[in-house]
Amino acid sequence: MSGHKKIIIGNWKMHFTVKQAAAFATKFISKSVPADVLVGVTPNCLALSEVSGVLSKSAINVVSQNAYYEDEGAFTGEVSMPMLRGLADFVLVGHSERRHILRESNDYTREKCAAAFRSGIVPILCVGETLVERQNYHTNQVLNDQLSVGLADLTTEEVSKMIIAYEPVWAIGTGEYARPEDVEKAVAKIRAEVTSLYGAIAGASVKVLYGGSVTRENARSYLEINGIDGLFVGGASLSVANFLANSRNCRVSLVLKLNKKKKEA
Ligand code: PEP
Repeated sequence: MSGHKKIIIGNWKMHFTVKQAAAFATKFISKSVPADVLVGVTPNCLALSEVSGVLSKSAINVVSQNAYYEDEGAFTGEVSMPMLRGLADFVLVGHSERRHILRESNDYTREKCAAAFRSGIVPILCVGETLVERQNYHTNQVLNDQLSVGLADLTTEEVSKMIIAYEPVWAIGTGEYARPEDVEKAVAKIRAEVTSLYGAIAGASVKVLYGGSVTRENARSYLEINGIDGLFVGGASLSVANFLANSRNCRVSLVLKLNKKKKEA
């Protein structure tokens, strides 16, 4: 990942059959997707192989929505990280729907992040507070807990390479979105926590995304936030036109930032 690349990950969740996922990927790469943005799509595990084949000659990354932390064994219904090798570049860990609907704990995310790196797959660790936690001013504590446990088995080098998505749970799929100034505080908190756990280089190198009801209309307000590397998009990634628009928003913000830097130099 280049230091300057903006990142956009589309979370398809439990949508699209294998055929529909492949058709999306085929249509998407026929458009001019910005080459200087790291774009990732997340097919369900049945569609991973097909989508990965369609995207193999493109620069679009494949992200697995999930995988178990044991490498193999008697774990009926699960898919392991080694099984993702060659099919996925990234894997989601700790998405709020898995934490809150499927009861995945912080310890589970810790095991999964370590398992992902063992198989050469980069984890995207999702963190964020619920509405009640927010109303009780527990956001920082929740981020601390999710990061200190989730990252605990990783090396500094691994943490420096990974992606953390700040996703306030109350803003996911609800149409409610966080105010950019609050996201900025959370992003700073995430970098500060990573710095205190793994040092300044890891704190600056880890990539931090915002997710929560991002649309093509509000995307730029998040991309302008200090310290943010990109977007994690659910609903607005399910249409090629919307996802493309947001990928282009990432490109515009990248160009604006580079121009600003040039002017300052
Ligand atoms: C998500 O799936 O993590 C998400 C942020 O969804 P949405 O953009 O629909 O809120």
